[in-house]
Amino acid sequence: MKRIIIVGAGASGLMCAINSKTNLNEVIVLEKNSTPGKKILMSGNGRCNFYNDDQSINRYHSNSNKIENIFEDSIRVLDYFNSIGIKYTTKNGYYYPYSNKSETISNVLINEANKKGVNIICDYEVNTISKEGNEFIINNDLRCDVLVLSTGSMSGINYDIFYGYDFLDSFNLEIVRPLPSLTKLICEGSFFNKWNGIRTKAIVSSFDNDILLKEEEGEILLTDYGISGICVFNISRDIVKLLDDGKTPKVKINFMEDFSIEDLFNNDLTVKETLDRVLDEKLVDVILNKYHIPKDKKYDDLNNEEKNNVRHGLYAFELNVIDYKDFKSSQVTQGGLSLDEVNDNFETIKVPNLYVIGELLDIDGDCGGYNLTSAFLTALKASDKIKDLK
Ligand SMILES: Cc1cc2nc3c(=O)[nH]c(=O)nc-3n(C[C@H](O)[C@H](O)[C@H](O)COP(=O)(O)OP(=O)(O)OC[C@H]3O[C@@H](n4cnc5c(N)ncnc54)[C@H](O)[C@@H]3O)c2cc1C
Repeated sequence: MKRIIIVGAGASGLMCAINSKTNLNEVIVLEKNSTPGKKILMSGNGRCNFYNDDQSINRYHSNSNKIENIFEDSIRVLDYFNSIGIKYTTKNGYYYPYSNKSETISNVLINEANKKGVNIICDYEVNTISKEGNEFIINNDLRCDVLVLSTGSMSGINYDIFYGYDFLDSFNLEIVRPLPSLTKLICEGSFFNKWNGIRTKAIVSSFDNDILLKEEEGEILLTDYGISGICVFNISRDIVKLLDDGKTPKVKINFMEDFSIEDLFNNDLTVKETLDRVLDEKLVDVILNKYHIPKDKKYDDLNNEEKNNVRHGLYAFELNVIDYKDFKSSQVTQGGLSLDEVNDNFETIKVPNLYVIGELLDIDGDCGGYNLTSAFLTALKASDKIKDLK
């Protein structure tokens, strides 16, 4: 009877355990926390956005072009949850459990694992892994024939020591430099305390040397260090990489996507009076001050340079990004085990019977359910092979 050990009882580890377990094998999941699925519980603001109708490949990112084929059958994730009776609700193509509670997903996965006879051992941190012949040895304590690494990443969690990358390193596997993604951006400026706490609709665009990298629409949160919010998270990936390369990327914010200059200033009001009727007054003051726009003049009375500044301040408010918030503040990690190290079942090519799934891989997705889909799908694909091992 083959013994399979899975390190990490998160989204990918639980999914892999359930679908790998048969009557002919033993499946053990080792989890360092006192309960499984902690990050599932945190996900989607406690609602767990686990899938998205838009499965375009550009929603998923990796350094390897192997990514292109992986998500062709991501519908398997939805099919799986359907098959175990999860009912869902959708909003703009985003899928949540019908209960709107991430506990539903986490509890169902734990129950399914228990029903199948998976042995989940909590409060067990793996800190060493070695190999003797065909066997893997864990903490000089447990042995197994098949080892699955599903430790996730350091994102969103306060880790003293994260061992996931050390395990990969110990098998000489190539790691793409892990960096935070879906994270908050620290910007240059001295006015941030004036706009701190404002939430507003915007289009944000990222630039490297005036070359447009990405544009995202949604809610932006203006903070005392710079910018946050889902649309900022979704442009943060490239920006973090540029900063890591020593560059100074730029962000431009369009605060006024719904109104043209003509729509706005067709009245007898001053510039400030007009803008105060559309945007948060504190934000209006920041825009007027940064772009040296006279508050008390009407738009028609501004000179050409001032009119140009109004356009900039409203439609292309520019910020230099100087840093990003750390792993703990990020939702996901870019980088991880190079996809070139694994086959289609996420078994490492160099070390047979060693599987790597979930966020420990060099795959990260946009906000919108893509990261859980990736965790679940890579787990399903690994278990396709593991369950048949004799
Ligand atoms: C605040 C927040 C909100 C999010 N919201 C969403 C969302 O709505 N939709 C979405 O798609 N994604 C979301 N994500 C991302 C998503 O939760 C992760 O990408 C996903 O959980 C990764 O699954 P995983 O199995 O790889 O890792 P995890 O789910 O993190 O599981 C890894 C497990 O391994 C354990 N572990 C680690 N090291 C060891 C060790 N040495 N020994 C034993 N156990 C170990 C950990 O304790 C953990 O339980 C969110 C992330 C955060 C932080």
